[in-house]
Amino acid sequence: TDQSLIRNFCIIAHIDHGKSTVADRILQMSGIVSQREMHDRFLDRMDIEQERGITIKSQAVRVPWTVDGTEYTLGMIDTPGHVDFTYEVSRALAACEGAVLLVDATQGIEAQTLSNLYMAIDHDLTIIPVLNKIDLPSAEPEKHAEEIAGLIGCDPSEVLRVSGKTGEGVQELLDRIVMEVPEPTGKPDAPARALIFDSVYDSYRGIVTYIRMVDGELKAREKLHMMGIGMTHDPIEIGVISPEMMPTKALGAGEVGYVITGAKDVSQSKVGDTITSAVNPANEPLEGYQDPQPMVYAGLFPIDNAQYPDLREALDKLKLNDAALIYEPETSVALGFGFRCGFLGLLHMEIVSERLSREFGLDLISTAPNVPYEVTAEDGTLHHVTNPSEFPEGKIKSIVEPMVAADIITPKEFIGAVMDLCQEHRGEMGTMEYISTERVEMHYRMPLAEIVFDFFDQLKSRTKGYASLDYHEDGEQSADLVKVDILIQGEKVDAFSAIVHRDKAYSYGVKMTKKLRELIPRQQFEIPIQAAIGSRIIARENIRALRKDVLAKCYGGDITRKRKLLEKQKAGKKRMKMLGHVEVPQEAFVAALATS
Ligand code: GDP
Ligand code: MG
Repeated sequence: TDQSLIRNFCIIAHIDHGKSTVADRILQMSGIVSQREMHDRFLDRMDIEQERGITIKSQAVRVPWTVDGTEYTLGMIDTPGHVDFTYEVSRALAACEGAVLLVDATQGIEAQTLSNLYMAIDHDLTIIPVLNKIDLPSAEPEKHAEEIAGLIGCDPSEVLRVSGKTGEGVQELLDRIVMEVPEPTGKPDAPARALIFDSVYDSYRGIVTYIRMVDGELKAREKLHMMGIGMTHDPIEIGVISPEMMPTKALGAGEVGYVITGAKDVSQSKVGDTITSAVNPANEPLEGYQDPQPMVYAGLFPIDNAQYPDLREALDKLKLNDAALIYEPETSVALGFGFRCGFLGLLHMEIVSERLSREFGLDLISTAPNVPYEVTAEDGTLHHVTNPSEFPEGKIKSIVEPMVAADIITPKEFIGAVMDLCQEHRGEMGTMEYISTERVEMHYRMPLAEIVFDFFDQLKSRTKGYASLDYHEDGEQSADLVKVDILIQGEKVDAFSAIVHRDKAYSYGVKMTKKLRELIPRQQFEIPIQAAIGSRIIARENIRALRKDVLAKCYGGDITRKRKLLEKQKAGKKRMKMLGHVEVPQEAFVAALATS
């Protein structure tokens, strides 16, 4: 395709402002998806996306669109909106020249509207501002057009009004994309260079790599070379997605498409790498991506330790599709073999665990998540702590914790509530700006550990759902943190250790010991459950011993009842872990680690 006829754009917006729905109408109006095939959020292809109603993965689709008798080729990328998936969005942006910035006409600008807009501007993309959901009676397009115009410096009349539901305004939007998004400017005659912006594992076809051609042409019958990892492949298939995979003979400069090499090993395709032709290779690779930094770490352990190799394989495959996921083997006395995993946030962690269980049939326990810390021991050694077990014993010289810059947008009547909440979470207030007469944007600096866990839920509940939140890394600060250990009958149980702020150590200790007292069944001896900081006990509970006569009663009675009991016990045994002499049911771990 001639580059002057190509337009590549992505749709960016705050979560729920209607990206996937507008993408549906675009698919329909361009004629590539018929009325009969159409279903809501067509590009949210994973079950988990359909059920939760959120986009997790970006999707790239080619749609034709004709303006004044000329047919153009649009490369459209629908992106996720949640803060955990910002990295996913930034990769999509690098494959486009334009961005459609959608804003819900009943809500106005929200926190991820701003963060996505700033990212798009960083990538020098042409921005097309659009108000969506104008069909709703509560839409206030005039008011919010002013807001947007003020933000990006255009006239309010230039802000398009559309409805992803009724399709109103979507044709105008496509026309505007053709008119305003710049054509790609790669060199069609130079040696081929394509950016790998995503890849997925398909159980039938192996690795499917999504690429944005920058220079030259890749041919289906020519050997490919991956410049970063230094591997050469014979492509099995090259093509475009419209809306399903369609093979083509070649992909030329400016086009978005896919390559299948037959590779099954995840190390053979790296997101951010450059593909060139092995026959006529380019000298320099394209600028790739920075690896994302995990924000939250937790251990994932198979409930049945025989599933450990399966877990490794499943993580390898997910990793291919999710560059932000990192993991390394971890052994726990209590939970056996598993992996320490790094995630971009709690939603990311939840999605990964859910995909592991649904797509790979794994039953997992996850330990309480924590953020990474830099701990200097008294002897001066520095420990990079992503796991409470790595916390050095003995005296600590200093601990440094990661900080974030948080941006919160809220109606002005909730300013006081937001301030209180941030203060409770060790936040330091920065500036505050009005984005309209009724709404403000507040800036805070806050420890990451205070924001990743339940902050967002509390923010929503204290502002009746009206506030929105975005945050990004912002250096570090020293912090007064301690490791709290949980001991069962004097033995430390590594899976329950946690690094917490000194002020919260006592409440963590009390909560965990109480919980465990209820979860661990009584046994023939007394079991003390303690919480400790180093050798200092800060909380204690006791599980009293079973009385002898209770046992006697159990084992009396008729023979069939006795046998049944024994069988039940045998089955139960498999699901027990021995910690010292104490039998702890598997469920107790799951329950104790659930909402901590
Ligand atoms: P995304 O998170 O930005 O991809 O948003 P979705 O496309 O998943 O839409 C979020 C919700 O808004 C869904 O319930 C949609 O049905 C609804 N929605 C999206 N666009 C419109 C619209 O133009 N009008 C109305 N009434 N609802 C819409
Ligand atoms: Mg979506």
